[in-house]
Amino acid sequence: MAKSSKKKNDVLFIGGLVIAIVVVLGLSFSILYNDNFKDSDNDTNSNESKDEVVHVPSEEELKLEKLENINEKLDFFKMEYIDRYLAYKEKNPNLDIEKIIVYVNIGLDQQFYTNVHDSPNQDTNKILVNKYNKLASDFVPSGLEEINPNYSSGKKMLERNARIAFENLAKDAQSEGFNIRAVSTYRSYEYQENLYSNYVKMDGVENADTYSARAGYSEHQTGLAMDVDNKVSAYTDFGNTREFDWMQENAYKYGFILRYTKENEFITGYQNEPWHYRYVGVEIATYIHNNPMTYEEYFVRFLDK
Ligand SMILES: [Zn+2]
Repeated sequence: MAKSSKKKNDVLFIGGLVIAIVVVLGLSFSILYNDNFKDSDNDTNSNESKDEVVHVPSEEELKLEKLENINEKLDFFKMEYIDRYLAYKEKNPNLDIEKIIVYVNIGLDQQFYTNVHDSPNQDTNKILVNKYNKLASDFVPSGLEEINPNYSSGKKMLERNARIAFENLAKDAQSEGFNIRAVSTYRSYEYQENLYSNYVKMDGVENADTYSARAGYSEHQTGLAMDVDNKVSAYTDFGNTREFDWMQENAYKYGFILRYTKENEFITGYQNEPWHYRYVGVEIATYIHNNPMTYEEYFVRFLDK
């Protein structure tokens, strides 16, 4: 009994060994055969085969590489601007790539008042009017309404939603002891034309351009922008008043943003204007309050796609 079972085990062991050897040999042979097969394939079709292994990047791919392939991260990257991005990067080698994309999309790689487009989002609170986006001479916003005279100097008009928002702002400010009054609001194309040409006569084009918009390029023509004072000091001193501090803390809650600041002069093309506010609606104003940026940057990042 014990002997015959040992024999059986031996037979099984030897059988298993033979099968294992056959499998190992078979595998080795098939690997060798495949390698040989591949070699001979390479010999006969070497060019075609190399193309599969080494990718030759296209001109566009090389350009994108220079821009750190940021197109994969930014949904506002514009392929048609790729050469402008590269040229701007060359001129500003230390500038963050994302800023290069934002600034070129704004138009900053070209002079103010060049490469001008019609203002996008006309007749909405998302309109963009600046030195690259202009309004027609006959553009008049719909829904202009007169501001409550308690909160304005003389007869002043704003677009309806901006008018309501401003009156709420001024009323709440007043209840806290702050006087905020609209001194310049909607201005027609013709009015702006006169204003600007008077400044040019006084100061010359170069200076006038730093504080006054050319006709068609003024936010005041949208009915969504206003200059304010505190009823006591000149509006040009508004930045030194406690009302200005109140606006810094509260204007966004009513949908207004401070539009032209000293640090953003290179983007907007205007000097610091602590008195000039623009109605963009509470959502956008809140975002900009929490993530300080110009409306130009906001527009390029979120509205221009
Ligand atoms: Zn203004």
